[in-house]
Amino acid sequence: MKLLSLRMHHLRMPLVSPFTTSFMTQTHKRCFLVEAELEIADGRVVTGWGENVALDRPYYSAEYLDGSADVVARWIAPLLFAVDVLTAETVGHHLRAIVGNPMAKAAVEMAVLDAQLRAEGRSFASYLGAVARAVPSGVSVGIQDSVEATVRAVGGYVDEGYARIKLKIRPGADLAHVAAVRREFGDDLPFQVDANAAYTLVDAAHLQRLDDFGLLLIEQPLGEADLRQHAQLAGQLRTPICLDESVVSAESAVDAIALGAAAIINVKPGRVGGYLEARRIHDIARAHGIAVWCGGMLETGVGRAANTALAALPGFTLPGDISGSDRFFADDIVTAPIRMHDGVVDVPTGPGFGVEVDRERLERYRTAVVDVGV
Ligand SMILES: [Mg+2]
Repeated sequence: MKLLSLRMHHLRMPLVSPFTTSFMTQTHKRCFLVEAELEIADGRVVTGWGENVALDRPYYSAEYLDGSADVVARWIAPLLFAVDVLTAETVGHHLRAIVGNPMAKAAVEMAVLDAQLRAEGRSFASYLGAVARAVPSGVSVGIQDSVEATVRAVGGYVDEGYARIKLKIRPGADLAHVAAVRREFGDDLPFQVDANAAYTLVDAAHLQRLDDFGLLLIEQPLGEADLRQHAQLAGQLRTPICLDESVVSAESAVDAIALGAAAIINVKPGRVGGYLEARRIHDIARAHGIAVWCGGMLETGVGRAANTALAALPGFTLPGDISGSDRFFADDIVTAPIRMHDGVVDVPTGPGFGVEVDRERLERYRTAVVDVGV
């Protein structure tokens, strides 16, 4: 394929309710979609879509939205426009000189992959080797102002039928909230917590108290760079440690596993440079007997559909943060957003990521369009 054009659609979409993590509160989703036109061997022009998941500030990762957009426009696009025979599988190779910026790379690789699969009339799930037609749907519950509000929020999602609850925690909003959820909903509720790097190894004794609540896992208690300290903490907790922010590539997944820093890995394609690297991490983890699950970055319908297919691979043995679109958005930018039913979401079967961008809705939430020249 030959890359003909690359357009970035910057969006600002209201969330149905504020979403608070240990590092920020979001009331709107800001992101950009990549729309790429590629000419395939028979002369047809095919359009593919990708989504950039960077947050608007560098609090989750060093990469942030405006910087990521700049990298796509100034550095990624020129490298790919210069390639005569481009495939989704070679995007990473052509971008190898660019250090970091995995979310920028992932968004563009996604668009090329979507176009390639659409040209072949093949679904992303089929391409990956997915083995499930539907995947269990977990929900991520943000930090609430009070224990009562946490119980109320969790209760709403339990009533909706979500297969697993994940609660965001931070120092000062952890043990009491977790205890109340267990008390209210019982020991059988699949329940886990995510600290988004809010603790240090000094907090080990405090975190040990979470062991009483039978959690599936504690996600990223310590800092992104603290692999060795996560391994030390793992020796002090019964609750399995799952890494998110620390796993930025297949190499770092290997290091985390070898060090004993992760019993479980949260796979987020944007964080690791794309869906192909995400699949490699799945393969590596599976070969080591390490469970993975698919995380979320409040994706729009495009990324949400792609995540659902990824989570249908056989090593994704824990429910992911793949909630229905309506958990975050009253109105999504695809014609048929992912919906949760009976605790699962269905894996899309259409060509590419299997969703169609609704141009009218896209324009409703669009703040800027950037055409990147050849
Ligand atoms: Mg996380």
